[in-house]
Amino acid sequence: MAIRFFNTLSRCEEEFKPLDPSGRKVLLYCCGPTVYHFAHIGNFRTFVFEDLLRRHLEARGFEVTHVMNVTDVEDKIIRTVRETGEPLKELTRRYTAAFLEDLQILGCQIPTQMPRATDCVPDIIAFIQRLEAKGIAYRAADGSVYFSIEKFPAYGRLSRLDRNQLKPGARVSQDEHARESYGDFALWKAYTEKDGGVAWDSPWGRGRPGWHIECSCMSMKHLGETLDLHCGGEDLVFPHHEDEIAQSEAATGKPFVRCWLHSAHLLVNGQKMSKSLGNFFTVRDLLARGYSGREIRYALFSAHYRLPLNFTEDELKAVRQTLNRLDAWVDRLRKAAGDAPVPKAGQGTLADGFLNALDADLNISGALGQLFETVRVTHRSMDEGKMGKDEAANWLAQWLLVERTLGLPAVGEAKIPAEVEALARERLEARKNKNWKRSDELRDAIKAAGWVVQDAPGGCKLIRG
Ligand code: AMP
Ligand code: ZN
Repeated sequence: MAIRFFNTLSRCEEEFKPLDPSGRKVLLYCCGPTVYHFAHIGNFRTFVFEDLLRRHLEARGFEVTHVMNVTDVEDKIIRTVRETGEPLKELTRRYTAAFLEDLQILGCQIPTQMPRATDCVPDIIAFIQRLEAKGIAYRAADGSVYFSIEKFPAYGRLSRLDRNQLKPGARVSQDEHARESYGDFALWKAYTEKDGGVAWDSPWGRGRPGWHIECSCMSMKHLGETLDLHCGGEDLVFPHHEDEIAQSEAATGKPFVRCWLHSAHLLVNGQKMSKSLGNFFTVRDLLARGYSGREIRYALFSAHYRLPLNFTEDELKAVRQTLNRLDAWVDRLRKAAGDAPVPKAGQGTLADGFLNALDADLNISGALGQLFETVRVTHRSMDEGKMGKDEAANWLAQWLLVERTLGLPAVGEAKIPAEVEALARERLEARKNKNWKRSDELRDAIKAAGWVVQDAPGGCKLIRG
């Protein structure tokens, strides 16, 4: 069955085929965090959706190059630097580290590349010069450089924007600098006193890059001129993604993105969770209230990514029950499988039904429905004493595939099964005796059970594979 995604550009579900002639490599770009604060779980709804997308593509055999930028220079960051006195570099490094930690707590894979805006200023300047040479960017009196949307007739295609909306008085941009016409957006922002020490030299004088150009520049640098998939929350469709398209396509003359995926918002009492409204929870807030990363992750991905999701603690409590049910099922299957070897690749009705559901624009409800139907049917079969060891081992193998695709459990929180611990102990013994062949065999056996062994001083560590 083909994979299909809802493309925001066409507003239709389309069959997904990567640009790569071999059909294996996928180029995925995701707009990353603005690092002046802990990201909230609304932000993480989007990042968890992107992680699920990547994991599903990988489960289907694609090799995904996943690039996510880190916005470490921007109006809100500069305001925070001004208010706290903490240097920009220290502030943004601290919150980038916290972001990576939270990503891992939520079981998200770390993107292949995470370029920081401040490390790419020369690339951004070169990109703007390219637009300037084509007569699409112009320098305003104050030294800022703007993109002229008049020169890009396709402007507004993604957001289905009525160009008449772009008239004086319409709120189309947060830029406060002087531009020639409404809707033109800043590529380079001239230095003002409010920027304190945050500025770079450029052909247009001192200043700093705009936010939109960062993503055009970094995606092109790391993935090339045309991307397979570009994701973000739905609030980014306009103006951010519209502006990315304009900058990239104006520079290259090629399509920028083949398929755009946008996730709906996480809400609190019907309102978007956001820093400015103050109605947010961070991952840390919820860990402090006793919830685990695994529970938060499950709550965030369990509604379809294009449907708004209202966050409540009751929902997290219900997730705990659900996960307990799953854990009990897996324990029971393990006991039923006994010493039967768990096959490496899980195949069967669960794996097929689960992945087929996700093929349909990441239909998570269908995929989880398949899982819980399997739980019901296999419990009945075990109740009736009809489940053989090999059959139980086969269900376990399928579960491992499902678990890996869902990204459950979150890193470091999984209960290590006794048999995996025993294999790890045996492997340490083999290494002590310099029996490398046996040690490698045991490493493979641990891997087949869904774990990776990492050697550490005086022993080893087991993490989910
Ligand atoms: P930011 O750090 O504000 O640039 O946002 C990072 C990502 O989180 C972007 O893709 C936003 O679209 C997304 N985002 C922000 N608020 C929410 C929310 N309440 N629900 C889902 N995604 C969000
Ligand atoms: Zn972006």
